[in-house]
Amino acid sequence: MKFVDEYRDAELGRVLSGEIAAIVDPRRHYKIMEVCGGHTHAIYKYGIDDLLPANVELVHGPGCPVCVIPMGRVDDGIALAREPNVIFTCFGDMLRVPGSRETLLDAKAGGADVRMVYSPLDALRIARKEPDRQVVFFAIGFETTAPSTALTLKRAKAEGVENLSVMCSHVTIVPPLRALLESPDLRLDGFVGPGHVATVVGARPFEFIPAVYGKPVVISGFEPLDVLQSIHMILRQLAEGRCTVENQYTRVVPYEGNPRALEVLAEVFELRPHFEWRGLGFISQSALKLSDAYADLDAERRFSVPGVRVADPKACQCGEVLKGVIKPWECKVFGTACTPEHAIGTCMVSPEGACAAYYNYGRFARERVLS
Ligand code: SF4
Repeated sequence: MKFVDEYRDAELGRVLSGEIAAIVDPRRHYKIMEVCGGHTHAIYKYGIDDLLPANVELVHGPGCPVCVIPMGRVDDGIALAREPNVIFTCFGDMLRVPGSRETLLDAKAGGADVRMVYSPLDALRIARKEPDRQVVFFAIGFETTAPSTALTLKRAKAEGVENLSVMCSHVTIVPPLRALLESPDLRLDGFVGPGHVATVVGARPFEFIPAVYGKPVVISGFEPLDVLQSIHMILRQLAEGRCTVENQYTRVVPYEGNPRALEVLAEVFELRPHFEWRGLGFISQSALKLSDAYADLDAERRFSVPGVRVADPKACQCGEVLKGVIKPWECKVFGTACTPEHAIGTCMVSPEGACAAYYNYGRFARERVLS
């Protein structure tokens, strides 16, 4: 298939693998974090780590939008879904994310009107069709998906649709990366940068990483050769004693981002003073809420939301996985009490979660043998 097969060419992969082997220093151990869950899945689906020298370790980062939603936020969503006359809409993967007692799917089975949508525009469509009901959209995701929520809110306002509101849980990528870089738990040598987020924000917001922390960043696409080439670019910077932001994903990411999307984000959203991330705790200015101009469409102002705070279950080590401190198979419940069918933590539920990647692509067995 044109435009896909070129990025999955096994021979080119072997050439890149040889070039990587030639530039690494065998006396050194390299730790490279791929920020996005999409990269984690590409790595394990295509066996990219098998093409790397043993001293190049890949560490999985916090860029999975479902994984970082805390339990209390899920409980808040369930409380809203149970409000009389409410139709609660969300993406499919949020349905199975565990709250403290149940999931949105359980709430639906118990009678709440919870509906899966593919886009916030579906929620707007439902609101138009059901003018006597209140339609709430549970908005999640990084800067990648926030523009679609913003444009939907703009359209709802323009059309005078008053029965739609948004429970905004959009997060931003730079603050958790800064928190990770400040963490004494983790020593990283470079970052495979988030290609989807960078499509919107550009590469410039990541310049603080080389400037302040002296680590290279390569914004990367999601096909196997994209990821392999990005790792090669990071290792080449390290070998040459350089650190800068490079853009491997030039076919999609403009260095300055998408100005129209950024303009819409600035109009519809503002930064929250702080937001709780699953396993990472509160991170200041790391999430979005609706700006005053859109306050009338804010579900958290329209309804009384409990604002629940719940500690993660003791067995759950999603926080350590999201920080790259442990590998998924090191969590005590991985593959036993926690599986995609019966997940304890979010990293196993989400199609972008690191635990789901390990589980689905057989890393459990392999890592256990190696350890
Ligand atoms: S195995 Fe389950 S509980 Fe453990 S870190 Fe992964 S998702 Fe969380």
